[in-house]
Amino acid sequence: MSAPYTTLPEFKYVRPKSLEEALKLLKENGDAAKVMNGGVGLIGFMKERLVEAQYIVDIKGIGELKKIEYVPGKGLLIGATVTGNELLEFFEKNPEVREKFRALYEAASHMADAILRNRGTIVGNILEGLPYVDMSGPAVLFDAEVHAVSLEGERWLPVDGLVLGPAMTQLFPGEIVTEILFKEPPAGSKSTYIKLQSRTEYGIVNLSALLSNAGSPGKRDVRLVVTAATQLPYRAREFEENLKKAERIDDVLEQEAEKLANSLDVIEDPYASAEFRKHLIKVLTIRAFKTLSR
Ligand SMILES: Cc1cc2nc3c(=O)[nH]c(=O)nc-3n(C[C@H](O)[C@H](O)[C@H](O)COP(=O)(O)OP(=O)(O)OC[C@H]3O[C@@H](n4cnc5c(N)ncnc54)[C@H](O)[C@@H]3O)c2cc1C
Repeated sequence: MSAPYTTLPEFKYVRPKSLEEALKLLKENGDAAKVMNGGVGLIGFMKERLVEAQYIVDIKGIGELKKIEYVPGKGLLIGATVTGNELLEFFEKNPEVREKFRALYEAASHMADAILRNRGTIVGNILEGLPYVDMSGPAVLFDAEVHAVSLEGERWLPVDGLVLGPAMTQLFPGEIVTEILFKEPPAGSKSTYIKLQSRTEYGIVNLSALLSNAGSPGKRDVRLVVTAATQLPYRAREFEENLKKAERIDDVLEQEAEKLANSLDVIEDPYASAEFRKHLIKVLTIRAFKTLSR
């Protein structure tokens, strides 16, 4: 790679100790300021000149953003600066919560590697907005919402629809995501994450799937999110509805998985053709729901 893409432009770096101070710094510096979390994504974007920032507000020193809490009936609250490794440690100590949010646990175990997971955060991973990031699928699967705070006020935003592309989101300049809530899954549900990689750590097709009450059409819950194969996370609503109302999942699974795969506008790149990705979506969807209904 040539020089401009391996060097960082000059910028001013600040590491506020409180959320209020960080919000003030963002407001004062407008579009020139960017939030830095783990920095794994942001620094890369800056080197590639995909993101311009004259002012970096590093939020890692803000103590209140470093928390993980499971609230029965509500869900799993994860503070903005919680890293992949910290989430995995929490799951090791709380196996019941891990099983409730199994797809999130499996995805976090596959997020890059142990060194990157030491810095990369759950929230930063989602907001990075690249198609293959591992946290976005489980976030959409568990109807997650982020808490966005600015000097003007606060709001909760669903992760489904939050991301618009690489480093592009529905957040306003001046807003900081302080936490993310992965909502309590249906009682007795099982979930899983399947990541299919090709020569790199990035997935070419990632699936997040959830199933409850497999044997009872009236009570059954079915959820499926496709990532990595599509530019943005795709919640397969029509597939979910058709599986929910089927008398037996096995009767319709193959046909619905094929319909889903053919309906998607998938990525074509040097790692996998669109045709291969569609084939994988079909095969892996069948595998996910066969495993979950066992
Ligand atoms: C070699 C390599 C391999 C990788 N492999 C994988 C992989 O296999 N799977 C995977 O999922 N990822 C992978 N990644 C990506 C990596 O996991 C992400 O870059 C990282 O998780 C991003 O998190 P971060 O905390 O570093 O975010 P940052 O880089 O700090 O931020 C990312 C973006 O989100 C914004 N942002 C972050 N936090 C907030 C907040 N609280 N409020 C408002 N805006 C915010 C930033 O301004 C920036 O635009 C890989 C990266 C590298 C370099």
